[in-house]
Amino acid sequence: MNGFDYSVATDVDALLQQMAAPGAAAVDASKLIAGGTNLLDLMKENLVRPRQIVDLNRLPPQAIERLPDGAFRLGALARNAATAYHPELREQLPLLSTAILAGASAQIRNMASNGGNLMQRTRCHYFYDAGVPCNKRAPGTGCPALDGLARQHAIVGASDHCIATHPSDMCVALAALEAVVHVRSVRGARQIAFADFHRLPGDQPELDNTLAPDELIEAIVVPPSQHYAAHSAYLKLRERLSYAFALVSVAAALDLDADGRIRSARIALGGVAHKPWRDPSAEALLVGAPATTASFDRAAAQLLQGAQAQGVGPGSNAFKIPMARRAVVRALATAALGTVTNTGDNLP
Ligand SMILES: Cc1cc2nc3c(=O)[nH]c(=O)nc-3n(C[C@H](O)[C@H](O)[C@H](O)COP(=O)(O)OP(=O)(O)OC[C@H]3O[C@@H](n4cnc5c(N)ncnc54)[C@H](O)[C@@H]3O)c2cc1C
Repeated sequence: MNGFDYSVATDVDALLQQMAAPGAAAVDASKLIAGGTNLLDLMKENLVRPRQIVDLNRLPPQAIERLPDGAFRLGALARNAATAYHPELREQLPLLSTAILAGASAQIRNMASNGGNLMQRTRCHYFYDAGVPCNKRAPGTGCPALDGLARQHAIVGASDHCIATHPSDMCVALAALEAVVHVRSVRGARQIAFADFHRLPGDQPELDNTLAPDELIEAIVVPPSQHYAAHSAYLKLRERLSYAFALVSVAAALDLDADGRIRSARIALGGVAHKPWRDPSAEALLVGAPATTASFDRAAAQLLQGAQAQGVGPGSNAFKIPMARRAVVRALATAALGTVTNTGDNLP
């Protein structure tokens, strides 16, 4: 059994001081507990062994607010369920609401926080098995997924060191909607564009994101996106219909003119890379184009340019390349027909 100290943070400034403390006294951002749905799993699997954990649940950033310019400010500690079911957010950002509701289960979404969702770790089964090497868990030990079972793994942006994927559904929609992550430390506040928050593995797969160890996520701001509200879709393809992580997911949003031509488009993919995968050049191909399967297929091909299968034999994820391309086309075609608001749990 691994012992640890538990404390409750009641003041952000005092917590930031604690996070900035030198050496052994420091509590870094990976040892904070919000909903606990990921951190406790990692502790139970013996993958992380914090000496101390700090409970964030008495801190203030729990609200979902509408800002004067129409943006939504999602408190880091607001729950995934409260975010997805916020009445104004559902109307204005149906893509985000639907993506959140496609994840996990009702009980987990009631506990899971928005900040924790961004920080959740990969679901790579080799990462989760403390008995095998893993460059993400223990840098320099190797990556058995490269020659192993890679159905859940990356087809774009991978490296020789790691082919893990980021498991979040919420983050795929936040990437498409160009959210901004607001963080704070004793050094001050900073804003991180969503595209720069999560990182590709490169030769440092142990780093999932660009948050410094002494930084706290305070909020996620989603800029005004009403022009996408009428034509958006989140498509999640997985091994079983509920309670499973995406093999491939797509957040798609279109702004159409009166003639049905595309004024602007957003597409992000989940389940295919170490971070939500987006390529603005694929979206640019859609500007001014008719909302047809041919246009969508061109954009899908561009988005998946350079995709590479991983794993061997029956463990190979080669099937994900055509699957992802077709999923992009289907999500865009569904969005073009008009947003279907998700009213329930885990709808595909
Ligand atoms: C069975 C199961 C199925 C799931 N299925 C899905 C799914 O289909 N789709 C999906 O998207 N997700 C899924 N999840 C993951 C779930 O969404 C995450 O576990 C959850 O969002 C994490 O939030 P939390 O508040 O519980 O994080 P915690 O476990 O409390 O924290 C996770 C990490 O975030 C850090 N952290 C938390 N808040 C902050 C902050 N404000 N600033 C800095 N760091 C912080 C913590 O230090 C910790 O390292 C599933 C989880 C489980 C257990």
